[in-house]
Amino acid sequence: MEIVKKENYQGYETVLFATDEKTNFKAIIAVHSTVLGPALGGCRMWFYKSEEEALTDVLRLAEGMTYKNSAMGLNLGGGKAVIIGDPRSDKTPELFARFAEAVNALGGKYYTAEDVGITPQDMLEVSKHTPYVAGLPAKSGDPSPFTALGVYMGMKAALEYVFGEPSLKGKKVAVQGLGHVGMYLLEHLHQEGAELIVTDIFEDRVNEAVKRFNARFVKPEQIYDVDADIFAPCALGGILNENTIPRLKVKIVAGAANNQLAKLEDGKLLAERGIVYVPDFIINGGGVINVAEELNPEGYDQNRAKAKVATIYTKVKEVLTLSREQKITPQEAAILYAKKRLLQRRA
Ligand code: NAD
Repeated sequence: MEIVKKENYQGYETVLFATDEKTNFKAIIAVHSTVLGPALGGCRMWFYKSEEEALTDVLRLAEGMTYKNSAMGLNLGGGKAVIIGDPRSDKTPELFARFAEAVNALGGKYYTAEDVGITPQDMLEVSKHTPYVAGLPAKSGDPSPFTALGVYMGMKAALEYVFGEPSLKGKKVAVQGLGHVGMYLLEHLHQEGAELIVTDIFEDRVNEAVKRFNARFVKPEQIYDVDADIFAPCALGGILNENTIPRLKVKIVAGAANNQLAKLEDGKLLAERGIVYVPDFIINGGGVINVAEELNPEGYDQNRAKAKVATIYTKVKEVLTLSREQKITPQEAAILYAKKRLLQRRA
C-alpha cells in the first residue's frame, strides 16, 4: 500500500493519502488539530467523483470536528477520514484492513469512528487491525439516540432564550428528515406534548411518524413554508440558504443536520429575519460526546455519557448569549466559543 503523509498541509497538522490498487482502496485522512488531544472524527465512505472532491470534503469535515470536540468540552482534537468508494458494493474485509493500516500510520494522532456510509459493524472489522477506533457495537454503539437527546436539550435552551421558558408543550415543531436522529428526536418532542409536522422523502418513514407520534405530514418541499415555532433540519446540509430562509415562518432553527448553513453569511439572513439559529456543531454534539466516552480511561458508561450530553442545554444558552452580547450571528459566536479552549490550551 502506498501512503503519502503531508505535514502542515494548508493549515492542517497532517493529511494522509493512502492507496492500494490490489484491494481497490483509496482514502484520505485529515488531522486538523491535536491541540486538545488526539483527533477524533468519523470515517465517511462515499462515491466521490474525484480525489479533489474527497479532499475538499475531508478537510472541511476535519476542521469542523476540531470546533465540535472543543465546544463539547472534550480533550480531543479534530480529524476525519474519507474512503472513496460505493458504500453499498465496495466494502470488503481487505479494504477495512487497509484503512486500519492507514489509521495506524498516524500512530494514535487520529481515532476513527462511523460516519455516513459506515456502520458500527464496519468499525468492528477495522478494530481487528487497529486500536484507534471508537463507536464499536459492544461499547457506545449507535450515536443517534445521544445526538437526538442533545438536539432536544438544545431546542429547549433556545425556547428559553426566545420565549423565556423551555417547555415544548403545545409548541409546533417541523422536523425535516425522519432517519436515525429524526425519529429519536420525535420521541422526546411527542413525550413533552409538542405538535409535530414532519417530512421525509421515504413514505414509510413518514407513515411511522404519523402513526407513532400523531404527526401531520407535508411534502418535502413544503417543510420550509409551514407555520411553526421551530424548524428542525435532520436530513441534509446546505438547506438554509437564500432560497429557503425567506420562506421560513419559525422563530427558531434547531436540528441535527451537519453544515446547515449553505454559507456563513446565511447566518446573517436568518438573524435579519429575527430567526434564532442554533449552530449545528453545538446542538448535534451528543453523538461525539457518547463516542468519546469509549476512550475514557474508566471505560464506557452510558449514564455518564447522557449526563454530559445534557450539558448541551447550557452550551446553547452560552453561545446564544455570546452572540447577543457581541452582536454577531450564533454561528460566528459558536466558532468563537469553540476557539476559546484551543487558544487557552495553546497559551
Ligand atoms: P439518516 O440517513 O438516518 O436520516 C436522514 C433522513 O433524511 C432519511 O430518512 C432521509 O430519507 C431523509 N431525507 C433526505 N433528504 C431529504 C429531503 N430532501 N427532505 C426530507 N427528508 C430527507 O441520518 P441521521 O443519522 O439521522 O442523520 C441526520 C443528519 O444529522 C445528517 O445530516 C447527519 O450528518 C447529522 N448528524 C447525525 C449524527 C448521528 O448521531 N447520527 C450526529 C451528528 C450529526
